[in-house]
Amino acid sequence: MPTRKKPSSVRVHSAKSSKPTRPSKKVAKRPASKPRTGAPRPKVDPSKMVYYFGAMRTEGGPELKAVLGGKGANLADMTSIRLPVPPGFTITTTTCARYYESGQRLPHGLMNEVQKNVDLLQKETGKVFGSIENPLLVSVRSGAAVSMPGMMDTILNLGLTDQSVEGLAAATGNRRFAFDAYRRLINMFGDVVMGVDHEHFEQAFTRIRHKFSAQQDTDVPEQGIVELCEAYKQVYRTHVGDEFPQNPFKQLELAIESVFKSWNADRALAYRRIANIQGLNGTAVNVQSMVFGNMGDDSGTGVAFTRNPSTGENKFYGEFLINAQGEDVVAGIRTPRPVDEMPRWNRKVHAELLAIKSRLEKHYREMQDIEFTIERGKLYMLQTRTGKRTGAAAVKIACDMVREKLISEREAILRVPAGDLTQLLLPSFDPTAKKLAKVLTRGLPASPGAAVGRPAFTAGEATERARAGEKVILVRKETSPEDVEGMHSAIGILTSTGGMTSHAAVVARGWGKCCVVGAGELHIDPVLGTITVKGRTLGRQDLLSIDGSTGEVIEGSLSTVAPTLSGDFAKLMKWADAYRTIGVRTNADTPADARRARDFGAEGIGLCRTEHMFFEGERIRAMREMILAETREARERALAKLLPFQRDDFVGIFTAMKGLPVTIRLIDPPLHEFLPHSDDAVEEMASTLGVPVEKVRSRVSQLHEANPMLGHRGCRLCVTYPEILDMQVRAIVEASIACLRDKIKAVPEIMIPLVGTRAELAVLRAQVERMIRQVREEQDFSPKLDIKIGTMIEVPRAALTADEIALDADFFSFGTNDLTQMTFGFSRDDINSFLPDYLHRDILAQDPFQTLDQTGVGQLVEMAVRKGRAARPALKLGICGEHGGDPRSVHFCHRAGLDYVSCSPFRVPIARLAAAQAALM
Ligand code: ADP
Ligand code: MG
Ligand code: MG
Repeated sequence: MPTRKKPSSVRVHSAKSSKPTRPSKKVAKRPASKPRTGAPRPKVDPSKMVYYFGAMRTEGGPELKAVLGGKGANLADMTSIRLPVPPGFTITTTTCARYYESGQRLPHGLMNEVQKNVDLLQKETGKVFGSIENPLLVSVRSGAAVSMPGMMDTILNLGLTDQSVEGLAAATGNRRFAFDAYRRLINMFGDVVMGVDHEHFEQAFTRIRHKFSAQQDTDVPEQGIVELCEAYKQVYRTHVGDEFPQNPFKQLELAIESVFKSWNADRALAYRRIANIQGLNGTAVNVQSMVFGNMGDDSGTGVAFTRNPSTGENKFYGEFLINAQGEDVVAGIRTPRPVDEMPRWNRKVHAELLAIKSRLEKHYREMQDIEFTIERGKLYMLQTRTGKRTGAAAVKIACDMVREKLISEREAILRVPAGDLTQLLLPSFDPTAKKLAKVLTRGLPASPGAAVGRPAFTAGEATERARAGEKVILVRKETSPEDVEGMHSAIGILTSTGGMTSHAAVVARGWGKCCVVGAGELHIDPVLGTITVKGRTLGRQDLLSIDGSTGEVIEGSLSTVAPTLSGDFAKLMKWADAYRTIGVRTNADTPADARRARDFGAEGIGLCRTEHMFFEGERIRAMREMILAETREARERALAKLLPFQRDDFVGIFTAMKGLPVTIRLIDPPLHEFLPHSDDAVEEMASTLGVPVEKVRSRVSQLHEANPMLGHRGCRLCVTYPEILDMQVRAIVEASIACLRDKIKAVPEIMIPLVGTRAELAVLRAQVERMIRQVREEQDFSPKLDIKIGTMIEVPRAALTADEIALDADFFSFGTNDLTQMTFGFSRDDINSFLPDYLHRDILAQDPFQTLDQTGVGQLVEMAVRKGRAARPALKLGICGEHGGDPRSVHFCHRAGLDYVSCSPFRVPIARLAAAQAALM
């Protein structure tokens, strides 16, 4: 049994207090508690509402995260590994759920349990709640199982009253400090628990500052702070209609209830909606004895990451403020100093922090985000949690931790959220454009990326203008939890105060949104809607470029360049490839896209749309001639003009893909999409083609359909106009033969879209085969030419009859865009008219066109896989809808047994990683 060192002696806030702390001896004598490893964990007792953490006993740990919340579980865990954590207790998330179940009433017996834990805390600290000698003060902190930065408010210094404030003054020998703590409590309690507008307290403070001719809060003398407490109590009285509670237990009870309430506050709901957090019990409440970072110049508070959260560099990274309490760092009110400068202030504490960094990382094998406070030179840990990081940092940290033997390759793969790779695949500002750019000022590079937009000055404005389709950068002095919706709508965030761990920085990094903070030279006037910097003034209509990787703020709109795959990113991809079992292809229509996708690791093209090839320059003219033609011969003459273009395109794509398969979809959109619709354009077309305007007009109206997406499109076109199919197949076969003769391996797969019955496919397949034979003969080409012929499964009937259809298909490719459209009956082009309401009201959990609807559409996919394979075991299966690059949908495709997913080139790395994660989970 591992023996534990005796618990460190009890902390006493009062260095000057002569009174010895009663229970300290008892605590010191306590034998080692139960072993930390190997012993069976106690079962969760559902009736237990409060868990203690401290030297007396520690009842919870990381395995109880769902019940204790992340903060509570880790406070207990840090206590167990003997890091210096002020003792306290946690009220469970299930208690919060019970609070709501019973119509927002504190569950019966809760306050009794709380009382017992307060007793224990009093014993351990040697302090007494409300005491006039050495009062116990606590913080009351929320904390759910999933971290929600700044979502719910913390109340500090709870337990102070008119009496105990004198006790604190006596115990610390610092009356100004004691009253300063008291005024903070009245303010926080008034604001957070009773809903008194913070402004009222601010005004009272301003009056006191004037009265005492103080510039800063810290300049106000003791007498001023004492008067401020009176003024604050008056504010409280006026706005609450009652006295500030003088009973610490009453304070505690109200504070606990208010934490429970905050779980369903608007901003908490908004955060959970945006982050898609569902299925939690509620929030836990952590009640923890206070330590003070504001006791003088030997005290301070800070936050840090065990590694750089922006780049991933393995270097302790943080910020601290001397003589400050709690929220001062996070709120971005004062700009803190980097932790690197700490040795000059206190070398010992800095060394301790570094030691804690490596202990925490060994313990959690993860990058941690910590909060700490130094009270008169002694360091305390107040929080640790897995640190949020950018996509780039996630990749680097995962690879570094493998090198450091902290984690395995498999864990590294699972550590990087596949969707976060988007950030590494984001464009960055073009370096040459950057050189010429006018850098207005520089802030801190809080979250990488390149954003170009126009300034919006409030969250509401950002949301509104973004909704109207504008690209806006939210420009604020600082942000707060109320702003999350606006921050989310903006394409970038820029603040003038605050550090790398300010609210704006943390939230933006979590989302992977470009963010620059602390650009102190900016003067932002939200009323006028202007930003002034170095004599230059910009308004709502001026374009701004911000670089989240360097912190630069640039006037105007800079051009961007595409990213590349290298270094740790490439390494992680290689590991992913070793574990994944499904293939990853790309959707590409041009040789340039095909090459890019190959560079990103695509193993073929899963969807090459041919209609895009009909639009450029002369081609559209021939296309229109074909559409206007009245006889088959005339159509064939027009199509003959298109043939060389199409053949050259295929040669380009086959060459780019160097022997990888290329699935080519025959023409899909309704013909009217190739015709002009405005009067002017119709006239122009008539004159270019030399036909009467009337003829064009009548063809346009003839082709008009009430439901074009359900109309004359897909394979239906080739049934009516077989010559289109002939031309396309000819182009494919001629291009393949040309390539093969040039020693370039071409592997085309011909895909017939929108099939709903076996007969449709059978008829067209026979025609494709005939055409292949014909071209081979014409070309006198005898070597092997293996061209697969398959279909898309995108009409529900095709999924239902997949066993029949498979008899004529070498492969299926699930076109989940149309399949979703037709299964839900939602128009994919118009869904945004109601989708926001569906998401808001939780009718849909997510946009079914982004993340595959597994319960509905997914069933059709599974059924088609089963029936298709039963009829034809060698049937090859893939997906080519937008979903192919969505991590959750990739997991589904893996489970459904598809052979590959296909997605846009930039999503290929995401799909590779998601596929590996699916295989490892
Ligand atoms: P958040 O989730 O917003 O970070 P926290 O509960 O972690 O909220 O805390 C808010 C601030 O108060 C943090 O800076 C934290 O370090 C500080 N704080 C919380 N509890 C204590 C305590 N017992 N003693 C001193 N400072 C505390
Ligand atoms: Mg915190
Ligand atoms: Mg929802």
